[in-house]
Amino acid sequence: MQLLDGKKTAKEIKLELKDAVQKRKEEGRKIPHLAAVLVGNDGGSMTYVAAKVKACEEIGFESTLIRYDSSVPEDILLEKVKSLNEDRSIDGFIVQLPLPAHIDELKVTQAIDPKKDVDGFHPTNLGNMVLNLPGFLPATPAGIIELIKRNGIDTEGKNCVIIGRSNIVGTPLSIMLARNTNPGNCTVTLAHSKTKNIKELCASADILIAAIGRPGFITEDMVKFGAVVIDVGTTRVDDSTRERGWRLRGDVDFDNVASKCSFITPVPGGVGPMTIASLMINTLRAMELKGK
Ligand code: NAP
Repeated sequence: MQLLDGKKTAKEIKLELKDAVQKRKEEGRKIPHLAAVLVGNDGGSMTYVAAKVKACEEIGFESTLIRYDSSVPEDILLEKVKSLNEDRSIDGFIVQLPLPAHIDELKVTQAIDPKKDVDGFHPTNLGNMVLNLPGFLPATPAGIIELIKRNGIDTEGKNCVIIGRSNIVGTPLSIMLARNTNPGNCTVTLAHSKTKNIKELCASADILIAAIGRPGFITEDMVKFGAVVIDVGTTRVDDSTRERGWRLRGDVDFDNVASKCSFITPVPGGVGPMTIASLMINTLRAMELKGK
């Protein structure tokens, strides 16, 4: 078994981006600037945004964090999106999801200028992704593809089962892995809560990707010997041995599954750091696509 070490791979990417920033500085060119909008005090969202700002610092990108109380009216948030669209100093920005229930997430996502939509959630970018046209790829699926590529995993002709069909993970990933590219050329099955015989389906997978949000869902009997297992799930579970009282747990029962796999991602330290690395790649591209 080989650990698919997302932390290590993401570090390599960040070093490459750091070099690119250094080169731009030496040439007197603009440094990428990422803004992040955070609404409310959700623990998970605060952790993700803090990690994104930290990655910017490590690479040498500029970053701006804009925070709102969870009671912020939708029109104020939409005004901010409009001003970020127009702000020439900002190359890309994200509005951290989920948003409070009184705010229409789709409306906010659609208000973002697709050229600054470094999360790749705008319908224009999702459409470009489907057609394999230039644009921004959603960060988590793009991070998984990069992890597969940089670790030399062969995907051609492989039977790939993805569990979870969200618009930000499972659905775009199913398209990216099925198309005629490398990585890609898999035969993909996209499973969800209505899928029947999920155990048998998983056990037939050469590449098994879990993006469900149910800790330990994938058990040993659901994994074929030699499979590549990628765990996207990150759920906070109680852990009294930790000072903070919780730890992150993936969708895969790692301890019992790992020995059967050819490759497996840990949680934390697998897909999470790759998601952040992808966001950084998109931010640099946002500037390059505009010819800056
Ligand atoms: P989501 O929107 O919560 O959707 C979950 C998906 O899992 C749905 O498609 C759902 O099916 C399916 N599902 C739920 N229970 C199931 C079951 N018992 N059997 C089969 N399928 C089931 O998912 P998400 O936003 O993609 O997030 C999934 C997990 O990934 C979460 O733990 C999240 O925190 C994590 N995540 C991690 C990263 C990262 O960077 N590491 C990034 C994004 C998300 P239906 O469609 O039928 O409801």
